[in-house]
Amino acid sequence: MKPQPKSGVLDIEIYVPGKSRAPEGIKLHKLSSNETPLGPPPAAVEAARQALLHLEQYPDGQASDLKAAIAEVHGLNPKNILCGNGSDELLGLLCQCYLGPGDEAIHTEHGFLVYGIQIRAAGATPVVAPEKDRTADVDAILARVTEKTKLVFLANPNNPTGTYLPFDEVRRLQAGLPGNVVLVLDAAYAEYVRRNDYGAGVELVSATDNVVMTRTFSKIYGLAGLRVGWLYGPETIVSTLDRVRGPFNLNAAAIAAGAAAARDRAFVEEAARFNAEWLEWTAKALEGLGLEVTPSVGNFLLVHFDDAAGRGAAEADAFLTERGFIMRRVAGYGFPNALRMSIGTEEANRGAVAALAEFLGRSSS
Ligand SMILES: *Cc1c(COP(=O)(O)O)cnc(C)c1O
Repeated sequence: MKPQPKSGVLDIEIYVPGKSRAPEGIKLHKLSSNETPLGPPPAAVEAARQALLHLEQYPDGQASDLKAAIAEVHGLNPKNILCGNGSDELLGLLCQCYLGPGDEAIHTEHGFLVYGIQIRAAGATPVVAPEKDRTADVDAILARVTEKTKLVFLANPNNPTGTYLPFDEVRRLQAGLPGNVVLVLDAAYAEYVRRNDYGAGVELVSATDNVVMTRTFSKIYGLAGLRVGWLYGPETIVSTLDRVRGPFNLNAAAIAAGAAAARDRAFVEEAARFNAEWLEWTAKALEGLGLEVTPSVGNFLLVHFDDAAGRGAAEADAFLTERGFIMRRVAGYGFPNALRMSIGTEEANRGAVAALAEFLGRSSS
């Protein structure tokens, strides 16, 4: 007799985060985890520092200050907000509360890996909907809905492709789902998107009973190390998740820093502007080297390599790593011959392009 985890758990492949090491003596440019190159907002660092002076106290279990800041900035009712230890925790809570053995949850072909992990951890079955042009396909998702379906996950924009669904398509997806299926709109990169036909999902959450939107402070807000995420949803869903979460799921520094970061609108605006400029520059420069780049609205690019021996993603990754440019292998996302590059500092972007030019044996213009 040996201890056995519940069914499904051992089918989970352990999540491998982006690498974060360069060889001895080489300057590290970490472009592997979609972190901001701009650092955290100084006001958030100061707020966290203040919180550290009272570490003997439990944090506010309701994260009221953080909810108030988010509500204020986004014009929402705090009752419809739930904060999490990163949005990853909220994705897990959704699975824990709405899935059990025999249930199914749908995610797309190249969707975020955390969905499959959390669906299996809840004992349910992940169902994969194929994508079209590396973009979520509403008809393919709807065609996979059965009586067993309880959740649909859509990362919009998606990681690692950087592609997005226009809001009309998201609306069509919701309209096609039975009312008992929760549509999870994971808008981790929403602040970066500059498209008139994009919406993160606030209106759809407000207008329906079965849609939630998750957001994070890990990307544009520069607080990945503290773990702060939030969810906006109907009160019935928010209060359901509220029962199951840890009573103090966010630490005191995370609550304080998150609230300060949310209110620093100038920081976010500048970060979005910086990203738009370097996303475009980097995509064009990589295309100029003859590489195929999936059009992205996020803070990262999916770069495709040749099948030719010696010119593939694995070789490029090794070459870049030796020079301190750390990118993300994405074989686990169904892209064995691509790398995901986060937009970094000017120095990192220029350096990575120059290194790739050298790798490909061409001169960079
Ligand atoms: C980075 C990312 C998140 C954020 O996760 P946190 O737990 O908030 O750090 C969520 N969804 C997607 C698609 C992401 O790429």
